[in-house]
Amino acid sequence: MSKEKPSSKSPATADRAGGKALPGTRYSQDELVAIFSRFAEHRPEPKGELEHTNPFTLLVAVVLSAQATDAGVNRATPALFAAADTPAKMVALGEDKVRDFIRTIGLYRNKAKNVIALSRMLIEDFGGQVPDDREALMRLPGVGRKTANVVLSMAFGQPTMAVDTHIFRIGNRLGLAPGKTPDEVEQTLMRIIPEPFLYHAHHWLILHGRYVCKARKPDCEACIIADLCKSPEKTCDVPAPITQAPVGGR
Ligand code: SF4
Repeated sequence: MSKEKPSSKSPATADRAGGKALPGTRYSQDELVAIFSRFAEHRPEPKGELEHTNPFTLLVAVVLSAQATDAGVNRATPALFAAADTPAKMVALGEDKVRDFIRTIGLYRNKAKNVIALSRMLIEDFGGQVPDDREALMRLPGVGRKTANVVLSMAFGQPTMAVDTHIFRIGNRLGLAPGKTPDEVEQTLMRIIPEPFLYHAHHWLILHGRYVCKARKPDCEACIIADLCKSPEKTCDVPAPITQAPVGGR
């Protein structure tokens, strides 16, 4: 449960932002600043929810999280990472044992193959280190653009926008960054999100989608940007008071 802490500025009385919409979005610069300022007040230090101990275990956790929940991955990885937290240890552990550790995660057979193959490539081509470069990351088996973006952001502090199912939905539902593909949504978000908010925006949007602007039924009564939101699906115009969420959670 979140610890309630009175906001210094009630969104109900916050300035109503207006102005002309920027190209590719339904929101003006002022509205975007207002939206992301509220996310920043709600979650000053947002964190991803995948458990990891170093860039390598983060990379493995993100690969395992494809079409699976973070919670499900977090149940399996502590034992795996206790056994192997470097590429060399992972290769030594071997595919069969990796498969046993991750058996509860969807697509585990293929993911076990990829974890071993990417560990080998890290050793052979990258000196056993996770590269901090998108193209190099995307050469690794099982690593696509979204995974590379998550690793660049969480392990190397680079502002990126890994468009997952939540961000894709929010981009389209709110008219924040309408697009037919994750790449289109990513490009628009990277262009329109005001620079000071860019680094954390990825986590703010994922957590907003996971806990409030949910897939089947958005919880608009609990939404801190309900007055600013331009979604035809919204059911409430009154923003929820801003409380400070615990790190990483709702
Ligand atoms: S008001 Fe509703 S639809 Fe709009 S962002 Fe909030 S939860 Fe989503």
